[in-house]
Amino acid sequence: MTAQKKSIGFIGLGVMGASMAHHLLDAGYPLTVYNRTKAKADSLVNRGAKWVDTPAEVAAASDIVITIVGFPKDVEQVYLGENGILQTKKGGHVIDMTTSSPLLAKKIYDAAKKKGIAALDAPVSGGDIGARNASLVIMVGGDRKAFDEVQKMFECIGRTIRYFGAAGSGQYTKMANQIAIASGMMGVAEALIYAEKAGLNPAEVLETIAGGAAGSWSLSNLGPRMIKGDVAPGFYIKHFIKDMRIALESAKEMHLDLPGLTLAKRLYDELAARGMEDCGTQAIIRWYMSDEQKKSH
Ligand code: NAP
Repeated sequence: MTAQKKSIGFIGLGVMGASMAHHLLDAGYPLTVYNRTKAKADSLVNRGAKWVDTPAEVAAASDIVITIVGFPKDVEQVYLGENGILQTKKGGHVIDMTTSSPLLAKKIYDAAKKKGIAALDAPVSGGDIGARNASLVIMVGGDRKAFDEVQKMFECIGRTIRYFGAAGSGQYTKMANQIAIASGMMGVAEALIYAEKAGLNPAEVLETIAGGAAGSWSLSNLGPRMIKGDVAPGFYIKHFIKDMRIALESAKEMHLDLPGLTLAKRLYDELAARGMEDCGTQAIIRWYMSDEQKKSH
């Protein structure tokens, strides 16, 4: 006889969460769902997921609660706010997969521990494509025992799953990831703009250099979107700015100066000020094509 699968509650059914929740349904987990905009749960409810009206009701119905919402303030609200997860959850696990603040992850861990709940911070990398293909990188902080207990479940949504240490460690790892991406995105855009100015075919250049030392996920997946002028998200500029703000605050606490990250945040802030915060991060190419940039020469 096979053991009954743990029940999972899923909160946050956006670009990332919806695909991840579908994989958990595919794997046979009983699923209870909640999202700010109810319509985004339709495809899951049509496949057998149960809709409830608050995070507290999700928590009451589930052994494991997974959240992947937008910003740290959303995380705070769904865990610690009115009708929040920690009001009703008894035992089991809560896993925040939002890219959020390491300090908030520690605060939730402490509050959960007092109630006998194991909290993990488990942000992801791999983008909309990684969520769709169940090939995400999952970076986990919290208690090792809790990680071991849910690792099988993580395997339904991710391919590289790694435990890093105490609460907050997953978020610190994700910040290292975002710091690497921030300067990398400028590099991809600058290479494409430069290739075009040199009279080359940017698509050919991109295809070729992707196989050499310049190769990266951003170059291969977001470079083609830059060339096509496709700025649909993907990964929202508003979320990337949130990540860079968290990383810069955290670096400041460590007395670290990160000029590449500082510059990338400035360019993305300028795009957001021009109304592009809901575009995908590949829209950085527009900064290099903008009138302001041309005028400065
Ligand atoms: P998204 O499409 O905006 O999804 C977030 C979802 O959470 C939305 O559906 C939103 O509801 C819901 N939500 C927000 N606050 C809520 C609350 N208080 N209660 C209930 N639901 C709430 O964003 P995403 O692209 O999936 O990203 C989610 C998180 O993953 C972000 O922290 C992002 O930085 C991170 N991330 C994204 C990517 C990527 O490539 N997209 C990759 C790695 C990590 P509404 O539908 O009402 O807006």
